[in-house]
Amino acid sequence: MTARAHDFAPALDRAHEHVLAWLGALHDRPVAPRATADELLKVVGGELPERGEDPAGTVDALATLAEPGLMGMPSGRFFGWVIGGATPAALAADWLVSAWDQNSALRYATPAVAALEETAAAWLLDLLRLPVGAGVGFVTGATMASFAGLAAARHQVLRRAGWDVHADGLTGAPKVHVLVGAERHETVDAALRYLGLGLPTPVPVDDQGRIRPDALAAALDDVPDGAPAIVCLQAGNVHSGAFDDFTAAIAAARRRQAWVHGDGAFGLWAAAVPRLAHLTAGVEQADSWATDAHKTLNVPYDCGVAIVADKAAMHAAFGLDTTYLIADETGPGDLHDRTPELSRRARGIPVWAVLRSLGREGVTALVDRLARRAAELADGVRGIEGAEVLNDVGYTQVCVTFGDDERTRAVTARLIADGDVWMSGSRWRGRDVLRISVSNWSTDDADVARSLAALRRAAAGA
Ligand SMILES: *Cc1c(COP(=O)(O)O)cnc(C)c1O
Repeated sequence: MTARAHDFAPALDRAHEHVLAWLGALHDRPVAPRATADELLKVVGGELPERGEDPAGTVDALATLAEPGLMGMPSGRFFGWVIGGATPAALAADWLVSAWDQNSALRYATPAVAALEETAAAWLLDLLRLPVGAGVGFVTGATMASFAGLAAARHQVLRRAGWDVHADGLTGAPKVHVLVGAERHETVDAALRYLGLGLPTPVPVDDQGRIRPDALAAALDDVPDGAPAIVCLQAGNVHSGAFDDFTAAIAAARRRQAWVHGDGAFGLWAAAVPRLAHLTAGVEQADSWATDAHKTLNVPYDCGVAIVADKAAMHAAFGLDTTYLIADETGPGDLHDRTPELSRRARGIPVWAVLRSLGREGVTALVDRLARRAAELADGVRGIEGAEVLNDVGYTQVCVTFGDDERTRAVTARLIADGDVWMSGSRWRGRDVLRISVSNWSTDDADVARSLAALRRAAAGA
């Protein structure tokens, strides 16, 4: 039976109402959830019902039961991690993607998805100032984007050493030397693990967590001549927001023919703002990049972007050659050729929608505003007695201590218990810190003032 609109209308109407209620409540609602997962299990769980129910009733139950356990992540007072809050066009486009339900593997079978994703890819390369014509795959997040970039890297560096990893696997292959900054994101290690490349060699960093180009050059000198090598650099340290010196680091990597991968999950977006573009200078010379659309760009979960300068290397890693899949010869290849999946969601469509809805000016203003909000928050924090900002606030991150580790933890715990804002605790450079990550497009003056007030309350009470 083909789906009929009237079968869907009641459930979709209820969902629409619940969504508007959620969005409307975000402005005032505490950011923190009011129930734990164990408490919620008692109300949403139990035995699988024998009898089904009317879908609209299920939607009502879902919205009501889930609400106390939702974190106000799209709130302008959420600073927990570098994540966004779903812009209007992106959220609505995401609903259409679900309704259209396109299995977006093949260009000829889902031409609308192909055209929209290819356009979103070109717009992204333009905004991020990356090479025109690079391969772009829409994946689940920056983790898988790094996986994709590093999969292309693994194949290429081994091929240059005379080894075909796709045919012969890794057993008996020449060792691939992987060098990373000591403060790379843990997901780079995860991607390397999935690829069978083992633990990377950490290279010393400076006081903001930037890889030291001299130390990188020295570490590369220890790699045997002609051995396959990969260097992972970072645009946007999750604590300091700092960027590696790409020009110097890539020059060092090039002297040893190393593949360079740039993890720019949130930082790569600095390239879109003339005032901030010096931060990413030189990153365009890398071979592959990972970024997120569900962070700075504020599209709904999940959407990461894998970019590989040499499109053929990406196809070599992910291309499938099966008899029942008819390849489209005219375009940049099939959608599944650029991601580790075959059946896949059309993740690039919300990206197309948010980019079209914001335009270049809107994206530039969005990223610029995030960095300015971080500077405002840092200024406000400096006015709180006992607070010390540990990082140079040049982008979206503020890292704060309130005296010794114990007191910083106590302030963080009070702030989270207060619930009016959400900022996460962490450890950086051997100290407990409170980490403020600014990423929500809707954060305004009132959110900044209210968040600083909550922080002052927590500091006074701890
Ligand atoms: C968030 C983040 C990641 C991981 O991204 P996911 O989208 O969660 O997979 C990787 N690197 C950096 C620098 C990040 O900030």
